[in-house]
Amino acid sequence: MTVQQWSDYSHIFGNGRLKAVFSHSSFCSNSSQDRQHFARITGLDPSKLIIPQQTHSSNISVIGKAGGVKNSDGIFSTNTNLVCSIQVADCLPIFFVHGFKPVAGLVHAGWRGLARGIIRNIKNELDQIACNIFDFNILIGPSIHSCCFEVRDDVLGQIDSEFYRQKAYGRYEVDLQNWAVKQLLEIGGQKEKITIIRECTYCQDGKYHSYRRNGKKAGRMIALIGWG
Ligand SMILES: [Zn+2]
Repeated sequence: MTVQQWSDYSHIFGNGRLKAVFSHSSFCSNSSQDRQHFARITGLDPSKLIIPQQTHSSNISVIGKAGGVKNSDGIFSTNTNLVCSIQVADCLPIFFVHGFKPVAGLVHAGWRGLARGIIRNIKNELDQIACNIFDFNILIGPSIHSCCFEVRDDVLGQIDSEFYRQKAYGRYEVDLQNWAVKQLLEIGGQKEKITIIRECTYCQDGKYHSYRRNGKKAGRMIALIGWG
């Protein structure tokens, strides 16, 4: 039996040749060219990848050419020749596809990004290219869920109190997905256009990498979005 090496979410967007894919831990590429390899096997052009240098920032960039992007945790492209990419291991990979314009994006959002306003910055960047979040179909991919994501008192003040719950003395579970949804609705996103993949990367050992489970040696999943 061959193990499925990635999830294909393209059907959720139903936007012609658009592909939205997410690698599993069974996809292994031991070279620095792992994104190029993943693009190739999923039918996307590896030479057209946009590769942001992720820093848990709240920076979003609209990009018009392939290659690296400094200090950015979210990228949008208005060019159907390009392929957006991000990597994650527990943080939320958020896919964005415009309903009728050739605009797509990928955002890497953990609690830091959500606390620092990465979702608000999406609106600011979309305003620049005359796009409205209202028109986007949005998917929150596999990520760490409240069953496994907890924080301590030290960072609690940065988290929206609607989305944490005390589970033990000094320990709080956090619902990152619904916190992100609340912020997406606040900038004008449509609830019925948001899909959450209810798979926890920490629980699903064997299918996904998890930074919280495996620590510094954890691998990463790759998310790609582009027109094949
Ligand atoms: Zn879990």
